[in-house]
Amino acid sequence: MRRSVWVVWVAVVLLGMLLAGSLAAQAAAPTLAATPTPSASPQPRIELDDELWLRPVADGVFIVTHAFPWAANSLIVEMADDTIVLVDTPYTAEATAQVIAWITAEFGKREIVAINTGFHVDNLGGNAYLAEQGIPIYGSDLTVQMLDERGEQSRALTLEWLQAPADKRYYDGHRDVLFIAPTEVFAAEDGLELDFGGERLQVYYPGPTHAPDNMVVFFPEHRLMFGGCMIIGGDKLGNTADADLEAWPDSVRKLARFEFDILVPGHGDRFDPELLDHTLDLLTS
Ligand SMILES: [Zn+2]
Repeated sequence: MRRSVWVVWVAVVLLGMLLAGSLAAQAAAPTLAATPTPSASPQPRIELDDELWLRPVADGVFIVTHAFPWAANSLIVEMADDTIVLVDTPYTAEATAQVIAWITAEFGKREIVAINTGFHVDNLGGNAYLAEQGIPIYGSDLTVQMLDERGEQSRALTLEWLQAPADKRYYDGHRDVLFIAPTEVFAAEDGLELDFGGERLQVYYPGPTHAPDNMVVFFPEHRLMFGGCMIIGGDKLGNTADADLEAWPDSVRKLARFEFDILVPGHGDRFDPELLDHTLDLLTS
């Protein structure tokens, strides 16, 4: 009798380990690069500090990269009426404040408009600073909903990846990020068009991808597309905890209708339009 209870107990423990193992594999942590990797591309870097830099990619267009610790891209675009558009934010309010200070030093006092392309911390971790500055933050109803429903779950996963003692500063940083929703909300299905003195931008939702709510931002005059986290710049899919792997390829294919020469991924140092096919290859291989 005792023996059979023990056998059942061992079987339950083994099954549990097996399940935990497969769950962990599903939500595999992105490769941790505590020291930011040097850019593979030739663009000069404007270093704001060791973990925060900008790269000019066209006239009035800068890619912002924050490695906290995983390098993530956001985008600055100077529009025809001098408004500065900021697509996504660095991970933290502090780094976002540095970027806004750089914008003011570089361009002088300007109107600034921000857009969040998703609910993950690499899309909107800096919203607290933007909101405090009275900067309007556009985002979709889906992003508001996802942030509300899954924001803390997503944070918990990030903190799990940052458990190692060496990452204490990153751990504390991510623990303390205030999740602030976009202030100017539009329906994801409708998308959004904004006009800046005749220069338009378009926010477009192609369907679920890396997350259920990821949007892209298209700047037709610049032939520039911010693809964000649905476009993969590296050689791995990264965090797929909120991904819809089945719908993702079809959603990405819908971006082919836009004409662009620069495609900015959420992560990585390649900004060429071939990233679209590269992403499809990774998703369908
Ligand atoms: Zn991302």
